[in-house]
Amino acid sequence: MKWKIRFCKKDRIYTLEETCTKCGGRTAIPHPTRFSPIDKYVRYRIENKLGKKIDC
Ligand SMILES: [Zn+2]
Repeated sequence: MKWKIRFCKKDRIYTLEETCTKCGGRTAIPHPTRFSPIDKYVRYRIENKLGKKIDC
């Protein structure tokens, strides 16, 4: 299964949900070029939060 990391522009947080868990707004797929430099960091955080490994 392929995880899709999404981003809330309003809260500047990453989530796997289509709706932001914080503000309830729609999340968007982060821009690839801006996303890649923080990819490892974001994955680490989300993996910790969810307690499972993600692959993307
Ligand atoms: Zn939000």
